[in-house]
Amino acid sequence: MELRQDPTTRAWILVGKEREKEDVKDTRCHFCRGNEDLTPKTIRALYNQKGEWIVRSFPDKSPIFQIEGNLDRQADGMFDKMRNIGAHEVIVEAPGHTTSLTSLSENVIADVLKMYRERVSDLKKDRRFKYILVFKNHGSLAGSLIEHIHSHIIGIPVIPARLERELRWAKSHYDMKGRCLFCDIIYQESKQKMRTVFENKDFISFCPFASRFSYEVWTLPLIHNHSFENNLEKEDVIDSLAQILKVILLKIERITNSYHVVFHISPNEYSFRTIRGDIGTIVDDFHWHIEILPRTERESRLQREEEFYINTVLPEDAAKMLREM
Ligand SMILES: [Zn+2]
Ligand SMILES: [Zn+2]
Ligand SMILES: [Zn+2]
Repeated sequence: MELRQDPTTRAWILVGKEREKEDVKDTRCHFCRGNEDLTPKTIRALYNQKGEWIVRSFPDKSPIFQIEGNLDRQADGMFDKMRNIGAHEVIVEAPGHTTSLTSLSENVIADVLKMYRERVSDLKKDRRFKYILVFKNHGSLAGSLIEHIHSHIIGIPVIPARLERELRWAKSHYDMKGRCLFCDIIYQESKQKMRTVFENKDFISFCPFASRFSYEVWTLPLIHNHSFENNLEKEDVIDSLAQILKVILLKIERITNSYHVVFHISPNEYSFRTIRGDIGTIVDDFHWHIEILPRTERESRLQREEEFYINTVLPEDAAKMLREM
């Protein structure tokens, strides 16, 4: 597989044949404690006092990226391509057979968040990775094949198109007004209170003004911070985030049992040769956040192929319903 850039959108596309997945006959759950022999070796785990793991990360069994080698970014005539260098890790979020984050206590969710923080910081030490994707697919409509709760962390040598666009417009807003776009959004949402769903001392959740999906919810730190992993250095911030995540997901699960949780975090600053040009103002103009994208039906063709979204639930109505649940 290799990464190719579409010159008309500047989006990077991973193309090529996927390695064939081996047929596993073993019917045991791959992610339950005790069945570690069914998964690759542990990268990092958090343990309880008995020395048993409670959150565990390991490399994905059939990764679409490979960890060894150089990017070999090269031209092919007018086109650009590079090797599919990356790191794909799975984080199993509970040792027992658990199917939703919401059935865990806030303390355990806090441990899961600590693991995300650690893995992000660690992968950012690798200068080849420009961005670290952190996401979770829950339920069959969201494409999750394994029900035992887990998430994915993927270090990649490019910035995903959607995030790249967000960074671009956040920078443009900052260049024009000298303020963070997301802080401005938070200010307006907390003043209008029409789309807010929940708030605690460190975070606010609301249905975005132009929600792409019905009951879409974003969660942002109230105090400006571009860096997920630095923000979560504070224990009490982790606890607040665990609380608000659990509250929001419990609400979402009353509407659908399929959703994506996507973290939008700052790119890896160490991986840019010219910090000034590309991401020079990122500390001031980017504001990390979580997007929860519920799936209630299969996406339409228009949405999938043209990224033109149709959402039949007004975000104001969605927020009111979620708030009052
Ligand atoms: Zn299991
Ligand atoms: Zn901000
Ligand atoms: Zn975002």
